Amino acid sequence: MIKVNKLKKDIKLGNIIIISAPSGAGKTTICDAIVKSDKNIIRSISYTTRIPRRGERDSREYFFVSEIEFEQMLKENKFVESAIVHGNYYGTSKDFVDKTLKCGKNVLLEIDVQGGLKIKKQYPQSCMIFIMTKNLNILKQRLISRNKDCAETIDMRLKNAKKEIQCLKKYEYLVINDNLKKAIDSVKTIIRSLKYKVIKNKNYFN
Ligand code: ADP
Ligand code: 5GP
Repeated sequence: MIKVNKLKKDIKLGNIIIISAPSGAGKTTICDAIVKSDKNIIRSISYTTRIPRRGERDSREYFFVSEIEFEQMLKENKFVESAIVHGNYYGTSKDFVDKTLKCGKNVLLEIDVQGGLKIKKQYPQSCMIFIMTKNLNILKQRLISRNKDCAETIDMRLKNAKKEIQCLKKYEYLVINDNLKKAIDSVKTIIRSLKYKVIKNKNYFN
């Protein structure tokens, strides 16, 4: 019995790191650097009905599925959160998140603000980081120079950016991605600090 209790106490669940940002602010670039530098952080690959961009590969950037497939997964409760973003479905696999946390690893979710808030409700210990450029003009320039979306898509994403920024106050950290290296270092510092976070409901010192 003592052994079982000790085991239970020693099990360390991983944490969830939510990174949200208006499209073009640099979250994918920053997340790439974060997962490369820390093998304990595992990035979740979302499901989406969006058409793959040039250079994107199924099961690498996303699991690209049809609307019918996505709606079937919704019915089967396969997502821990899902949302319609810029007119497409996006969702995070529940199974993946739970299995990764149970292994003691941290899960990195690169999701929109609707998804971020849904995750925070279910996993209150999650760390919420919002990334933004210095201003909306720079955001526009980044979307144009990324050269992956048409003018109409860029316009829609910029309009949505204004709404997404309204949710900033519900996040815990803001990182301005002006200098990329500094932004990556700031995110790393925030993540490093998580191990000192007080865990609610945990019995300390007994
Ligand atoms: P998101 O994932 O938020 O849509 P990306 O990571 O795709 O954004 O970045 C958008 C574009 O901006 C990409 O072309 C990327 O290389 C570029 N980028 C990212 N961070 C910076 C930065 N600090 N300075 C200049 N360009 C950047
Ligand atoms: P993109 O099409 O540019 O890759 O992503 C568009 C938006 O969808 C981004 O804000 C991105 O963070 C968000 N997104 C990606 N995957 C998910 C997901 O699983 N859930 C939610 N809610 N948003 C996601």
